[in-house]
Amino acid sequence: MSYIIDGKALSQKIRAEIKEEAAKLKSQKGKIPGLAVIIAGDDSASKIYVKNKILACHEAGFFSVHKEFDAGADKEALIKAILEFNRDDNIDGILVQLPLPKHLNPDEILPFIDVRKDVDGLSAFQQGLLLQGTPDLVSCTPNGVIELIKSAGVEIAGKNAVVIGRSNMVGKPMAMLLLRENATVTICHSKTKNLGEIVLSADIVVAAIGRAKFITADMIKQGAVVIDVGMNRLDGKLCGDVDYDAVKEKASAITPVPGGVGPMTITMLLANTLKSFKRKF
Ligand code: NAP
Repeated sequence: MSYIIDGKALSQKIRAEIKEEAAKLKSQKGKIPGLAVIIAGDDSASKIYVKNKILACHEAGFFSVHKEFDAGADKEALIKAILEFNRDDNIDGILVQLPLPKHLNPDEILPFIDVRKDVDGLSAFQQGLLLQGTPDLVSCTPNGVIELIKSAGVEIAGKNAVVIGRSNMVGKPMAMLLLRENATVTICHSKTKNLGEIVLSADIVVAAIGRAKFITADMIKQGAVVIDVGMNRLDGKLCGDVDYDAVKEKASAITPVPGGVGPMTITMLLANTLKSFKRKF
């Protein structure tokens, strides 16, 4: 049986600390952190994510504003909104909710976000800082994963860590963060050969694939730490990339889905917004 890493509890603890710090700064400086969210289209999951982000802002005592565009919006409209938020001194963080409608290419829109307000950590500048080993605003999900691993008392240095997935939002920054913690890191992807063998060598496994129950118990070394980033729908239920029930019998620590990585992502978004805000003083 493994230790279940409770992302909800850790998230609540960190959010309470963020709220306290924001309240302190408000009383000292008379200002509060502000987050702007831009959303385009009718994707129902995206709408829920945005609603949750706005709610989390309000609970933390932050100011938040969101700008909605219909599914047919053109890129110029989104860029104009970004440029306005860049200039707005009340806004410390800007994010564009992904995915965008098909005709909108995020690579042609996201680069307009002021890198100092890039609280999603997706800009070439922020990702470059991470690559150089001097991170500033780090992509929220992988940042949350590091907090989860540490909260379980796991020593990362010297461990073999295997990250499955190489997206700019999760896999690549995840690998860089683990490297920064002195793990020996392997990145796997859809063209990786002998995936099962590689994962079996891992002391720490981070699954960020987007395929339900893809990581099975036979791929996991006894006592490994398993972090499941995946969010998939299976038979109408939310499930991760890891075959949780079987893998938890072998792992020393594991995150559930839901209640693991998910809650930490918004928490790290608040942390990044607060960090950006504090630069004003
Ligand atoms: P993504 O951009 O689709 O990337 C998926 C990665 O998995 C790719 O690098 C892909 O390899 C790799 N992959 C796909 N099939 C594979 C296979 N058979 N064997 C090995 N690797 C394979 O997805 P993402 O944005 O990184 O997200 C990954 C998952 O995390 C999704 O389920 C997403 O919903 C979830 N997620 C959760 C949170 C949260 O807050 N909990 C946040 C973000 C994402 P290639 O590069 O070769 O195609």
